[in-house]
Amino acid sequence: MRTYEPDLDVADPGWRSQFHIPPFTSSSGADHPEMAYFAGNSLGLQPRATSDAVQIELSRWAEWGVEGQLTGPRPWKDYHEALREPAARLVGALPEETVVMNSLTVNLHLLMATFYRPSGERTKVIMEDIVFPSDGYAVDAQVCWHGLDPATEVIRLRPRDGEDILRTEDILDAITRHGDEVALVLFSAVNYLTGEWIDMPAITAAGHAVGAKVGFDLAHAAGNVPMQLHDWDVDFAAWCSYKYLNSGPGAVAVAYVHARHARDTSLPRLAGWWGTDTATRFRMDRHFDPPATADAWQVSNPPILAMAPVEVSLRIFDEIGMATLRERSLRLTGYLRTLFDEVIGQLPAGAMMIVTPADNDRHGCQLSVRFTCDIHTLADTLRDEDGVIADTRNPDIIRFAPVPLYSTYHDCWRAADALRRRLSS
Ligand SMILES: *Cc1c(COP(=O)(O)O)cnc(C)c1O
Repeated sequence: MRTYEPDLDVADPGWRSQFHIPPFTSSSGADHPEMAYFAGNSLGLQPRATSDAVQIELSRWAEWGVEGQLTGPRPWKDYHEALREPAARLVGALPEETVVMNSLTVNLHLLMATFYRPSGERTKVIMEDIVFPSDGYAVDAQVCWHGLDPATEVIRLRPRDGEDILRTEDILDAITRHGDEVALVLFSAVNYLTGEWIDMPAITAAGHAVGAKVGFDLAHAAGNVPMQLHDWDVDFAAWCSYKYLNSGPGAVAVAYVHARHARDTSLPRLAGWWGTDTATRFRMDRHFDPPATADAWQVSNPPILAMAPVEVSLRIFDEIGMATLRERSLRLTGYLRTLFDEVIGQLPAGAMMIVTPADNDRHGCQLSVRFTCDIHTLADTLRDEDGVIADTRNPDIIRFAPVPLYSTYHDCWRAADALRRRLSS
């Protein structure tokens, strides 16, 4: 394996100084001041600007009390409106199509309440079998809620025997085969386990061709890969803000509804007072009057102290732009893959293997790697001895996500070098 190449970090430094990087003190001597952090796909690191932004809202609350709802530079009752445009830019949506609210699984439920409306023969949901469990539970619960049986109504697609990645052709084929029985097609845009970025426009078109609604979970896609949700005609989507969006543990999530639905104020929804028009909301009368935007899916007034970190995060993405970030992401992940391939070349066949597709249209920054050794022992050693944080997924995968905002080529080299030392001994 090659030696560390410091010039790479000099030439392509990223935006690391804007983030707090967890420190590393090794138990056994080897000393790096900072962790090589590869878990930004699970919990993104804290921007340095976040603490002040939260403190500002705390101070306003102390100074203004309830008056903060209506007065000051950014009244709380309108707070979410400032997040709308940057959230939309991040995923290629129109401003009226996005709203920052709730948490991810809650948003999936709210959106399915509108967009999963089984009737007659059209009752089925098509999704992937290797799915983050929460999405599976939510879909099953929605099916049950309609008095139907998930065992027959939920079609979960598996990769072919001996393969890890769900092929696009197999997804399209399943949608076409089930045809007018399909009510909803719901996929993770980037798979949490394999790191595969699926072909969103092709799947959306196939779903629409059979008359189904098409939604995506963008938990591992938002802030990771460039998307054009509006132009791809995606019906709805939801994502959390604590992974690539660095807005803190349990951060407020985002929902997207295509403009053609957002403008249809007659759609059924699980309504609440924050979904009624701001012009009439404080009349406090019986009439629910939704605006013709994604705001209409809001239920409750938002947690302002938790919205401030989202605002900081979206500003960072806005200043850099997804196109620029993606270019650095491809360079960084490409480098990690090259180094891993060099390590793999020195090991017995099969001891270490990259599961994530190599095609740049089919992956984000994460590389999912399969090992034949015990992954928990390996990951613990990497963390405690080498200062490399990556997360394990049973039974045999460790996920490494070099995040273009703050990860470095040196981080990538440390991870590969640590694997080389730990696996060849
Ligand atoms: C991270 C993740 C979740 C987490 O759900 P929360 O509602 O935010 O707790 C759900 N689905 C997917 C695909 C995820 O990656």
